[in-house]
Amino acid sequence: MTSSDEPTLDVSHLDVDLDLPRSVEEMLFPDLYVGLEINLLSPGDGIVTDRHHASSDRYEADDPMNQIEGQISPFTLSGWLRHGCEQVLQAAGATACHPGEANADYMRANVYERDLDSGYHEKGTCLDDHDDGCVVYNVFGGFGDQPGKLLRRPMSFSPIRRNVDVLDGEAEAHYRQVSNQVRSRNDEDGGKPLRQADRDVLGNVEGTWKLTLREVKPEFVGLLLEAVSFLDAHSDEFAFQIGGARNFGAGIADAWLINPLYTEREVRRVFNRAQATTSAMEEKDEVWASECRPAFVRALQARVAARDEDVSIPDESESIVGGESA
Ligand SMILES: [Zn+2]
Repeated sequence: MTSSDEPTLDVSHLDVDLDLPRSVEEMLFPDLYVGLEINLLSPGDGIVTDRHHASSDRYEADDPMNQIEGQISPFTLSGWLRHGCEQVLQAAGATACHPGEANADYMRANVYERDLDSGYHEKGTCLDDHDDGCVVYNVFGGFGDQPGKLLRRPMSFSPIRRNVDVLDGEAEAHYRQVSNQVRSRNDEDGGKPLRQADRDVLGNVEGTWKLTLREVKPEFVGLLLEAVSFLDAHSDEFAFQIGGARNFGAGIADAWLINPLYTEREVRRVFNRAQATTSAMEEKDEVWASECRPAFVRALQARVAARDEDVSIPDESESIVGGESA
């Protein structure tokens, strides 16, 4: 570990060199910004809004003037990201920590055993032979006294663009509470409503999810880069949509990791419709895609190979999951 005011990326524990054309001080670490564009989002665990709208005089669901701000749940977002990370580890030839306890009360029989046959190991057993757990264990943590190395904040939203600070992990989004009447299909009922279903949704989410690494290791960066690429490439697959209402097109996310070489001003520029990409940003995109990104991915591959004798570090390491470069 290094002192906190002089960031370096330590690869001494890995069997690779990390050749980066730019210094770590020129990168946004320990913060990482996931850019997100989601037309419709219905987080399974709901939305925390900034006002009490249980009383009907304070909230009209269909009032276009309502300007509700709030938070998108970090649990929904974290589960989505973790699923992507698990896929990356499996594609790299390793297994990932199962997200659940072996003795949890699952709704289907043998589900844990079946998962263990398809790319997972029992939660925490990756500590048996190594001091460090698998990389998913390190990043997400949450077992016993092991905090995850990645802080996943809630994402705040506002319908008013000037209130949105993407450097704080905020998004422009429009909150509505949507009510559905489920009506009887029996002729004799004359289409009477049987029940009402309310759900919280956000429309046109556009902004950032701010992640912070409590410990910046190159393999963590590689894992997150690959996971976000994977999730973007598979965004309309049921398993990789975010939140609920997936059959209705909710939770299909365009996602990308904002170039860590950008300055804070350039991160803001990405979401400013009045400003185009500068040539300096284009040059950084080229450097990131051709030299930095592959180096971080290679660090991840080295980390996987160090733990598993059946896995070697590939010669070509552009991408593990084959998504588009972030
Ligand atoms: Zn593990």
